[in-house]
Amino acid sequence: MSDRKIVSVIGAGLAGCEAAHTLARMGIGVKLYEMKPYKRSPAHSSDDFCELVCSNSLRSDRLDNAVGLLKEELRRLGSLVIECADLTRVPAGGALAVDRAGFSALVTERIKSDPLIEVIGEEVRSIPDAPVIIATGPLTDGALLKEIEELLGDSLYFFDAAAPIVSLESLDMSKVQRASRYERGSDYLNCPMTRLEYFNFVRALIGAETVPLHGFEDKSVFEGCMPVEVMAKRGDQTLAYGPLKPVGLDNCFASDGKKPFAVVQLRQDNKEGTLYNLVGFQTNLKFGEQKRVFGMIPGLENADFVRYGVMHRNSYISSPKHLKPNYELGNSSGVYFAGQITGVEGYVESVSSGMVAAINAARSVLGLDAVDFPRSTVVGSLAHYVSEYNGASFQPMNANFGIMETLENAPKDKLMRYAALSERALNRIDMIIKEELKWK
Ligand SMILES: Cc1cc2nc3c(=O)[nH]c(=O)nc-3n(C[C@H](O)[C@H](O)[C@H](O)COP(=O)(O)OP(=O)(O)OC[C@H]3O[C@@H](n4cnc5c(N)ncnc54)[C@H](O)[C@@H]3O)c2cc1C
Repeated sequence: MSDRKIVSVIGAGLAGCEAAHTLARMGIGVKLYEMKPYKRSPAHSSDDFCELVCSNSLRSDRLDNAVGLLKEELRRLGSLVIECADLTRVPAGGALAVDRAGFSALVTERIKSDPLIEVIGEEVRSIPDAPVIIATGPLTDGALLKEIEELLGDSLYFFDAAAPIVSLESLDMSKVQRASRYERGSDYLNCPMTRLEYFNFVRALIGAETVPLHGFEDKSVFEGCMPVEVMAKRGDQTLAYGPLKPVGLDNCFASDGKKPFAVVQLRQDNKEGTLYNLVGFQTNLKFGEQKRVFGMIPGLENADFVRYGVMHRNSYISSPKHLKPNYELGNSSGVYFAGQITGVEGYVESVSSGMVAAINAARSVLGLDAVDFPRSTVVGSLAHYVSEYNGASFQPMNANFGIMETLENAPKDKLMRYAALSERALNRIDMIIKEELKWK
């Protein structure tokens, strides 16, 4: 009888396929459970694995962009998903977009033809014995969801609408003023608006295009977290009396030198203070529309949106409470989570977590130490972000330079700084591959 070590992976999505391939590459046998085609989430429609449920773009492929850098780190680490994306790419400027069906078919074929991977077509209703990687995605449901909640002792977060996040360095600080309401410190960034700026903004907001809601989303659940465009439609001055009220900010002045008619507030979003979210701006606007309309806010004309506001069902665990940076539960029980369910946001980010969880699950069963991907890499900064976030409200996070370890003596020029961050990250990845993973 073979004494090969086995790890179970639940879910053959972006994270699960990457995890299964990585485990097999490390000589570990894999039982990969996938419920399609017997049962599908409301967003999945294809029978193939690694289905892209919405856009066919894996976003930027440039090294001056954090998700572009993340892809290059994953390429060097031998990612199956990025390799298949490269092989099925379609023209998309500086982005890596794929022929959706061709991409999924290729990943499926590679997974199914791997002799170390056994695909089991069933819905997992109860967590199999450890070691196991749970990669069932943001639409995890039913008996498994219940069991995960029982295991963790708390409910999964239900993320219905989120406000965009911008990088501090992209703001025009000549128009932005630091202050908290009623002189309680200076924690917020304030963007004061004249009457004209406010009404022009509200008109644009009301007319902006929104993302169609998917059938599975129940509009009533969004009442408690109302999108800013819905609030604006309730009356011209609703926002000025709501999240944009100009009260308690006596030292803030609009561009005409007068007291502002409305004020947009930005709240710090990470420990380093490099990222800020737009308070009260949870939204369902299309991404391009968010850039256009929110770019009308004084100071945000050239804002870099590191995460756009989104509104869809998205269950995720409270990773800062439960996970270690290797995506394993803190009690080292051999139960790992990977993908969007951990609070990383996006296709490539899900792949990244699948890779890290699998490397460490494999190393654990092989009796080797865990590999800690540092925050100087994008792979590591995501892992550390979800497991160590210490703010009030943990929200899913895209790859971005703001969550990475800052550079000493960083160049002032943004592109030079990003180039330096990329160079440091790739050197670190190469070193980890050479010294710790010892992959050929
Ligand atoms: C509606 C929607 C649109 C999105 N659009 C984008 C986008 O355009 N761009 C982007 O970057 N990100 C997008 N995301 C976010 C995220 O990148 C995707 O959800 C991504 O697919 C997450 O990868 P994953 O591996 O975590 O989960 P998934 O890719 O969803 O994979 C989970 C897999 O697990 C299987 N599964 C689930 N439960 C079980 C079970 N009990 N037993 C067996 N199998 C099971 C599912 O069938 C599925 O194949 C979107 C998310 C949603 C919900």
